[in-house]
Amino acid sequence: MTTSPQPRANVAAIPAYVPGRPPTPRPGLTSYKLSSNENPYPPLPGVLGAAVEAAAEMNRYPDMGTAALYEALSQRLGVPTDHLAAATGSVALIYQLLSAFCDPGDEVVYAWRSFEAYPIAVTVAGATSVRVPLTADGRHDLAAMADAVTERTKVVLVCTPNNPTGPSVTQAELDDFLARVPSHVVVVVDEAYVEFVRMADPVDGVATALAHPHVIVTRTFSKAYGLAGFRVGYAVAQPPLAAALRAVSLPFGVSHVAQVAAIASLAAEDALLERVDALVAERDRVLAGVREAGWEVPDAQGNFVWFPAGDRALELAAAAEELGITVRPFAGDGVRVSIGETEAHERVIELARRTRS
Ligand SMILES: *Cc1c(COP(=O)(O)O)cnc(C)c1O
Repeated sequence: MTTSPQPRANVAAIPAYVPGRPPTPRPGLTSYKLSSNENPYPPLPGVLGAAVEAAAEMNRYPDMGTAALYEALSQRLGVPTDHLAAATGSVALIYQLLSAFCDPGDEVVYAWRSFEAYPIAVTVAGATSVRVPLTADGRHDLAAMADAVTERTKVVLVCTPNNPTGPSVTQAELDDFLARVPSHVVVVVDEAYVEFVRMADPVDGVATALAHPHVIVTRTFSKAYGLAGFRVGYAVAQPPLAAALRAVSLPFGVSHVAQVAAIASLAAEDALLERVDALVAERDRVLAGVREAGWEVPDAQGNFVWFPAGDRALELAAAAEELGITVRPFAGDGVRVSIGETEAHERVIELARRTRS
């Protein structure tokens, strides 16, 4: 008999989150961190200034209702504020959502490989993961995902663009999928990289959420808006689902500096989206260079490129390290390389040449 306090059994089963490593310093070589899909640009002066000013109020609790941020998002997205829920990053929204909707033994369907926080969040909630393999070109197999829905399914997670492989689903594919998923199942459309998408028939997440009472769209200020360190993301859903998300949110979770920086970022959106355009141009250049070097890589709609290296993933990561770039390997599967500083990208293409498959 054990006498020490014991967490629920699922806690011991939680897989570890492996964060992207910082670069190893090398004498005479500037190193670049291309392992966490971060925005390489420093904050815009206006956003930084607003956040610094807000820091002077650190003795006060933040606005728990994040009212000013909801107002700014409502204006920007054209949805009423009762359709919004903010949290400490969209990762937190996904954790909170799964905990709110799943009982032990309930199933959560998602593609695999996909965002590594999903299996963690599912296990935290005490639910059961049902993983549906991606297609050979790194895409969601939405038909197979619809087939995987059972009476036990509470939530389906659709990651578009898919981290770490890169492709997005189209609106037509999503519509077909939604027509097949029973209306009591929550469908999360994780649009963490939506600002980087440049394709025909892109998903309109907000319109989709407005049209379907069982859809939740999650977005973040971490990637395109460059606020990863401040932890702020949001969901768009019809009022009952949005209210459930707000009800389970951590009290005072989103800090005052984060709220202020997010609002300032929406105000500075033109300048920020110009940077996104530059990152997209770099992404497309890197993708072309990697393919020209002989690698068959999937479409890249986020701020990263996927090398389907299989058993050679760790070998590739070591070769990248030699070149002064730190990438994110997934052992036995592949390597994700973030689009970062322009100076780093010739090295990514050189990595592709050195390791061509
Ligand atoms: C980065 C990322 C997120 C969001 O992260 P937060 O910083 O928690 O907002 C969500 N989903 C995917 C697929 C991501 O890659």
